[in-house]
Amino acid sequence: MVDTGGKDTLAEIQPLGAGALATVDMPREHYDRFYEGFANSVLWPAFHSRPDLIRASVEDYNAYRAVNAFMARALLRFAKPDASLWVHDYHYLPLGADLRARGVSAPIGFFLHTPFPGVGVMTNVPHHRELVGAMLDYDLIGFQTETDLANFRDYLDRELGIHTARDGRVANGRTRLAVFPIGIDVRTFAERATKAAARPEIARLRASLQGRHLAIGVDRLDYSKGLPNRLRAFERMFEINPDLKKNVSMLQIAVPTRVHIQAYRQLKDELAGIIGEINGRIAEVDWTPIRYLNKSFPQSMLAGFYRSANVGIVTPFNDGMNLVAKEYVAAQNPLDPGVLVLSEFAGAAQQLDAALLVNPHDIDAMANVFMRAFSMPLGERRERWQAMLHSLEDSALDSWFDDFVTALADRPKTRRTDSPGAAVPLPAGGTALGKVSNF
Ligand code: UDP
Repeated sequence: MVDTGGKDTLAEIQPLGAGALATVDMPREHYDRFYEGFANSVLWPAFHSRPDLIRASVEDYNAYRAVNAFMARALLRFAKPDASLWVHDYHYLPLGADLRARGVSAPIGFFLHTPFPGVGVMTNVPHHRELVGAMLDYDLIGFQTETDLANFRDYLDRELGIHTARDGRVANGRTRLAVFPIGIDVRTFAERATKAAARPEIARLRASLQGRHLAIGVDRLDYSKGLPNRLRAFERMFEINPDLKKNVSMLQIAVPTRVHIQAYRQLKDELAGIIGEINGRIAEVDWTPIRYLNKSFPQSMLAGFYRSANVGIVTPFNDGMNLVAKEYVAAQNPLDPGVLVLSEFAGAAQQLDAALLVNPHDIDAMANVFMRAFSMPLGERRERWQAMLHSLEDSALDSWFDDFVTALADRPKTRRTDSPGAAVPLPAGGTALGKVSNF
């Protein structure tokens, strides 16, 4: 983010695999209102079914539209004539429409990494019809789960009066809806976990446990992640079974994110209060139930943490996919795998149904599931882990990528022809991406 003095600037191009990564500086005057404003104080809460947290302003919306238009201009400077374009996530809902307005007729795909909410929640978003209408300039819209797709189809039907056929073809004649659950690179993550054992930090963590069992949680410090309930459930577990005191503990990594937004600052204070209270009340001189870290780690280190933990706890209220759940599974020792406790409201629960699934609103039930996880016999752990690993291998990152790109190339021959211009010819493979990190 720089002061561009009103001009579009290209910051950097660096090689990336077979292609190149171009980084574009966004205009500073719009960035805050775009990123912390409309994207993360309107769309993020709405898409995670928290309309009560929406903070909207016309200036934020205008900045969101301005940044989308800016990115469309920037993309056009790199798009080769035969390129297909693939746009990522809620930051860029109308980018396809902005590209069409500049004459692009090439295939443009869009993937939504977050959930898409029910129509009753979506209608809380200012300008929702304009935004969803603009999305219909994409040829392919990909979702993480069937539920997200059904919500979107329902929205089109009820708010825009546009029907979607069973095969996902929208009656506008251009757009197709489909589900592409995102995966991870399983083998790379498993290798990272094996290698991490040699790192001094992992040795220190293991030594500090003195044979006690460990649960791990790794999340951005976000209200969608269900952290207060998770911690209360961990506390409740010690009330139900006091014998677990001194025998188990939790390492919660909560990475600060979007720190200028009030809802995030409040959550940070709330968590610090809950953890201070729990530790203050039940810790012993030689045992702390919850180890709490407000910082981020490289994945090469996280992989070692995951492998050192007997239980992985992933309990969001709402999550597009949740990659941490998948990474935890991939990082386990096949001979002695840990147990994944997973919210039924994470997209990952669709593939990882061999995890111990929980309702993150039911604190007592979660407490009981944590106890079951800590005491699960090796045979059951291995069986569940094998099932989850197979599922991860079936929906790995490279097939997610290939499936989307193949489906985008397969767009219908006859389609709406109201795009002005048509400066960019049809596809042959080149793909441009734009994704803003969640941090
Ligand atoms: N992550 C990381 N370092 C950290 C914490 C998290 O690299 O200290 C990574 C983690 O490995 C995962 C991603 O951040 O790949 C989080 O993705 P997820 O889908 O779980 O949640 P999101 O943050 O996208 O909502």
